[in-house]
Amino acid sequence: MTAASAVPAVAPVGVAPRDAVGVADRLRTDVTARVRALVEGGAAAGAADDLPDIYVGCTAALAVARCPAQYRADGEDGWGFPGWSAPLAAAAVGRAALARHLALDDVALPAPLEVVRSWMRDAAKAPTTAVAEWIAQLVRSGDRTTVAATAATATRWVAGFLRLHSWPLPDRLGIVADDADGARTRRWQKAWRPLGRGTPVRVASSPDAVAGKVTAAGQFDLVLHRPSSPLDEVLAERAAFEAAAGALTAGIVAAGVVVTSGDTGERVRFPVDDRRLARGADLVAGVVHHRLVATQPTPDPFADATPGPACRHCPHRDDCTGGQAWLARSLAH
Ligand code: SF4
Repeated sequence: MTAASAVPAVAPVGVAPRDAVGVADRLRTDVTARVRALVEGGAAAGAADDLPDIYVGCTAALAVARCPAQYRADGEDGWGFPGWSAPLAAAAVGRAALARHLALDDVALPAPLEVVRSWMRDAAKAPTTAVAEWIAQLVRSGDRTTVAATAATATRWVAGFLRLHSWPLPDRLGIVADDADGARTRRWQKAWRPLGRGTPVRVASSPDAVAGKVTAAGQFDLVLHRPSSPLDEVLAERAAFEAAAGALTAGIVAAGVVVTSGDTGERVRFPVDDRRLARGADLVAGVVHHRLVATQPTPDPFADATPGPACRHCPHRDDCTGGQAWLARSLAH
């Protein structure tokens, strides 16, 4: 894992006060100007007449950073929300199950499988959120395999989260849940539109929890929990994206981004500084840029392909000479 400092997932105490709202304002101004310039430039270069919906989430940002050619070639399947799947729903289901347990004010250590199963049973009967509606559809269609896989991955998420954050959860740690209704859960501003309400560009922020109180002082951390440990460079990029996306959506810059990994028990804290926010803003702008490029005719759509391990599973590798060369080299070694 990275050399970033490993510290408890609670908001830092005693850090120097800073203008967390002012920094977020400036970031919003900067990102708005960049997005506007990209959109106007795209229009001048013959991008689609109507600006397409551009969803700037962490999956798209990491995909562009990994290989912009692959992101563009993914088309509609990769540009928007990819749709629920067992791995993708793990955090949403895990958070909701844990949030409900907390809202019950039950001090007992939750049994991960039981709280997940119980939440999924009730969600299927009366869904109130998008992931609950997906579970309900699975149950209605009799897709027991996906239901079981979702329960298993969500259970792993909850077990790892509890392992990393201990029980009872730290006082200042609040789970971010769509249907948050307890003191230990948090609602979080999840989207921001740089060009204004009703416009098609949307930046999404998706922390799993918030440590500390979200006030103008910015003395809080965003917490991301993963069942498994990502590669170091992915971890740093995800932290940069969430640092910027969180500041853009909430209008306040967090003090840090804490990433925890259930399988290894690692906890890494990335302080949010100007460099990290700048990288996050670049990731946001990168998605907008490449989504617009994808609407324009391009002589060689793979000219800027960035070969690497992702080529092994890339559905476009038959069309990408750079990816094929990388794969041939990697097989030769
Ligand atoms: S094969 Fe590799 S380099 Fe080519 S588009 Fe896919 S990920 Fe990018």
